Amino acid sequence: MPRTAGRQLVQPPGPTNVPDRVLRALATPTVDHRGPICQQLVKDCLTGFERNFGFGDPVVMYAASGTGAWMAALTNTLSPGDTVLGFETGQFAKLWSEMVSDLGLKLQMEPTDWRSPVDLNKLESILKVDKAHAIKAVCIVHNETSTGVTSDVPGVRKVMDAVGHPALLMVDTISGLGSLPYDHKAWKVDVTIGGSQKGLMLPPGLSFTVPSAKALEANKTAKLGKGYWKWAPIIAANKDGMFPYTPATNMLFALREALALLQEEGMQAVFARHARLAEATRRAVQGWGLELVCKEPKYASNTVTAILTPDGKDADEVRNVIYDKYNISLGAGLGNWNKKIFRIGHLGDFNETMLTGVLAGVEMGLDAAGVRIQKGGVTAALNYLAGA
Ligand code: PLP
Repeated sequence: MPRTAGRQLVQPPGPTNVPDRVLRALATPTVDHRGPICQQLVKDCLTGFERNFGFGDPVVMYAASGTGAWMAALTNTLSPGDTVLGFETGQFAKLWSEMVSDLGLKLQMEPTDWRSPVDLNKLESILKVDKAHAIKAVCIVHNETSTGVTSDVPGVRKVMDAVGHPALLMVDTISGLGSLPYDHKAWKVDVTIGGSQKGLMLPPGLSFTVPSAKALEANKTAKLGKGYWKWAPIIAANKDGMFPYTPATNMLFALREALALLQEEGMQAVFARHARLAEATRRAVQGWGLELVCKEPKYASNTVTAILTPDGKDADEVRNVIYDKYNISLGAGLGNWNKKIFRIGHLGDFNETMLTGVLAGVEMGLDAAGVRIQKGGVTAALNYLAGA
């Protein structure tokens, strides 16, 4: 068990730290979800989304984790037997693809080494061959939280347009939105998928989809069962600040506050802060002489850094030492990376001194766990941050 004095540093790449202002909003006395306070709250959340992210399309919110929003995206747009193209960039792309198969859709999954982004050349060759347009959707994970690799979403759109392929483009930006630049409109994303517990600085439990006009058109003929996830009644009710069922009212109070916090800081400043903290983390990793999971530096994620433990050292043992000795909870290796890597989340309500505290704990913990590292990782991060 970790020492209990002081705050635990919760550093998986989500759930992230929830700012005190958001926690206080969460503790607002619960209101009648059919009354005027909630109506205004829903409208404020929707306008807050638009103000911060400029989606230009409706946001459909769910009382569900991100996995629920994956399901909403698929069921609202596709019919049994449709083909979905995916790229197995890591554990989350894999889990989403399992849902694709489970729903009775045909899955065409391109493997990767779990260290790289979506391969645009491969995408191009697959779409070129698909002359009959059997592929109805291309589903990609913007920021693969399990590997710390970010894919080039506008690049994907460019390839789809160049080939003239009409498939819908669905993008999971659950661990990117609110932390990394993302442009649903300009990148012509057909369904954007987000979740609460990452860059939006909320507890887990809220997720959403943003359907484009093209996705809403596809929705009219999509034959998969939609149940709870059906877009049309939610979009219709939201126009009056209502929901067809009981929304997660207290999460909406928190969401309104979190969107206000992001606006106050300014989205460009938020992105710059994430880029700065990520670069400092990478400098520390380099200083320790350890290896990133992400192979090509230009795709390294600015929200999470995944690090290989050397010499076959069990990464979970290392994480446990860091947890017990320094009260820091780091992200585990998932799927193919089970026990081989650990992940440092540096997203959400996070700043320089919080990061340097984490890096100091990791440096001491690596040493205590018997991982052979060079000293100087923290110093490299400090030097970078001092000049950034
Ligand atoms: N997609 C990505 C990129 C994620 O990081 C996660 C969770 O970490 C999910 C999907 C699944 O979301 P949830 O666990 O909220 O269902």
